[in-house]
Amino acid sequence: MDSGLRQRLAAYLEFQRELGVERLRITPAALAPFAPPPVRDAPAPAFAAAAPPRPQTPGPSAMPPFHPAPASDPVSPSPRAPAPSPSGSFASAAAAPVAPPADPVAELVRIRADLGDCTRCKLHRLGRRQIVFGAGNPGAELVFVGEGPGADEDVQGLPFVGRAGQLLTDMIQKGMGLDRAAVYICNVVKCRPPQNRTPESDECAACSPFLRRQLLAIRPKLIIALGACAAQNLLAYKGSLASVRGRLHPLALDGWNTQLLITYHPAYLLRDPSQKREAWKDLQIAMRFLGLPRA
Ligand code: SF4
Repeated sequence: MDSGLRQRLAAYLEFQRELGVERLRITPAALAPFAPPPVRDAPAPAFAAAAPPRPQTPGPSAMPPFHPAPASDPVSPSPRAPAPSPSGSFASAAAAPVAPPADPVAELVRIRADLGDCTRCKLHRLGRRQIVFGAGNPGAELVFVGEGPGADEDVQGLPFVGRAGQLLTDMIQKGMGLDRAAVYICNVVKCRPPQNRTPESDECAACSPFLRRQLLAIRPKLIIALGACAAQNLLAYKGSLASVRGRLHPLALDGWNTQLLITYHPAYLLRDPSQKREAWKDLQIAMRFLGLPRA
C-alpha cells in the first residue's frame, strides 16, 4: 500500500471513528474513495489573495455528470421542499435574471470594496476586530455558509478557523475527500456577534445582500447551509432544522437556480457529537449530487 493511500485510508477511518462508527464492512464500494485520486488543480488560495479563479475542483474528469435520481431520492430536489419564501432575508432579490459575472474574482473584489469598513448594522460597534468576508475558491462548485464569525475568525479575518472550523475542515477533507481550498466558505453576517450569540434578524437583513452577491458571483452548483441561521436566511421555513435536512432544496436567486442542502453547524456537532452521523448523511447527499466518490 503506497503512503498516500495509507494516509487517505487512515484519515477516513479516523473520521468514521469520530462519527462513532465502530465497525466497517470492507467492500469494493467502501474502498472506492481510496482509488488513486484524479489529477486535480492546485487548491485556489484564499480569496484575500485575489488570485485568478481556478477551474472547478475536482475538474470535469474527476466529477462524472450527475444523473437525476428517482424522486424519492434525497439527491433529487424534494417535491416537499418549500419554495424560497418572500419573508426571508433574500426577499429583496430582483426578479429579473442577473447575468453571471465575467470575472468572479473581480466581482468578489468589488463586493468587498462595496462592503468597505461597514457600519450598516450594530455589529460594527459591538466589539468586532475586523470584517470576515469569506475565503476559498472563487470558482467553487460548493459553498458553505455559516452564521457569523467567532472569536478566532474575528482575530484571523478568516471564516471557520477555530475548533468548529477544524471540524468543518475534517468534514470537507476527511469526509468528502475535497481540499478545503477547493470550496468557498462564508457567513451570513461578516462581523462577530458579541459572545458568539446568534445574529439577530436586523443584522442578517443588513448583511445578507452581500452574501447574496457573493453567491451570485461564485454561482456554485451546491450551497450547504450550516445551522439554522444560515438555513433560514437562505430558505425561510417553518419547523425545525431537522425537518429541512436530508434533501436538496431548489434555490433561486435573481433568476439563477442552484441547490441548497442544510446540515448542522459544526459548533453544534462539537456540543452534540451524536449528531455527526446525521451530518455525515447530509454530506453523502452532497457528494452524490456533486459526483464525488462515496464510501
Ligand atoms: S455584520 Fe455585515 S452589515 Fe453588519 S456591520 Fe458587519 S459587514 Fe456591515
